[in-house]
Amino acid sequence: MLNFTVGPVQESDEILGIGSQQTPYFRNQSFSKIMLENEAMMKELSFAEENARVVFLTASGTGAMEAAVMNCFSKEDNVLVVDGGGFGHRFVQLCEIHEVPHTVVKVPFESALTKEMLEPYNGCGYTGFLINMHETSIGKLYDMKLVADFCKKNSLFLVVDAISAFLADSFNMSELGADVMITGSQKALAVPPGISILVLSEKAVDRVTNHKVKSMYFNLADALKNGERGQTPFTPAVSILLQIHARLKQLCEYGAEAEIKRIAELAEYFRSQITDLPLKIASPSLSNAVTPLMVDEEISAYEIFETLERDYGIWVCPSGGELKDKLFRVGHIGCLEKRDYDKLVDAMKQIFSNK
Ligand SMILES: *Cc1c(COP(=O)(O)O)cnc(C)c1O
Repeated sequence: MLNFTVGPVQESDEILGIGSQQTPYFRNQSFSKIMLENEAMMKELSFAEENARVVFLTASGTGAMEAAVMNCFSKEDNVLVVDGGGFGHRFVQLCEIHEVPHTVVKVPFESALTKEMLEPYNGCGYTGFLINMHETSIGKLYDMKLVADFCKKNSLFLVVDAISAFLADSFNMSELGADVMITGSQKALAVPPGISILVLSEKAVDRVTNHKVKSMYFNLADALKNGERGQTPFTPAVSILLQIHARLKQLCEYGAEAEIKRIAELAEYFRSQITDLPLKIASPSLSNAVTPLMVDEEISAYEIFETLERDYGIWVCPSGGELKDKLFRVGHIGCLEKRDYDKLVDAMKQIFSNK
């Protein structure tokens, strides 16, 4: 199968090789060393400040989103949550579950997040801001400079779910003044799912350390304490952490910007090849990670997904709910090359000419 989804994505042979080895014991010096290096490399690649810390959670990305909400906010807070799709809505649900007072900033499907949308909340005593830098469910990248300026002006604690944006779109944690950055193993890191990563600013480390969280597994203060010696409170997904180590080493040599450029070029190449097809790129602000495609009435987007899977051995991302027949997404993260897109475009051309 050729995989153009947004996660899990295609892995390189080197990463697959590491996954095929026996899982080593981990309560020892050599694993601690790997974890301390993982922390340093994550800080480098996310441009985190010197005193930032990193937590590797054995959980999918949502686990890190939940940990961030539980450990950073309480009933005393009042946060703004940007809800522009499935993942934004998840933050809203997490605030509901954990009883964090919040206001939802709804972003309509067809529009970008604008200054005007945030303006009404200026100077209203909010304490935090939650956003998915790239709303992957519909392929919309938010203007993080706009968000950062708003947060600085209002002294808001900024949590950024950059799960699908990290290494696909430029992200500079210290420049943005973000307090928590979240990513996951199965997106542009291109290793199997199972680990989510939180990078915490010095301010976030303080907040988390002084926060009483009602959870054993999602206690970030405990994770940070164990992390000081390169360990985790509970058994982590050891093999995935070794794969992450190999991948981060590659990326630190290669540079985050070079990886972003590589992904951007693939996205651009694919977009330039489909201009003759009856598809519309459906986003006011695209991420390099994915191209969201609107299909006209004659053929259902879900049918395209199924045909590609069944007849061509190709995976793209279908949509759920109201968008099921209208929207599918083609990813550009993972171990992919131009010639892979040639195969996808040929298959798409055949599907449309058979209609
Ligand atoms: C993939 C993704 C997640 C995490 O989803 P999980 O299935 O829990 O790993 C969260 N937010 C965004 C923006 C994502 O793209």
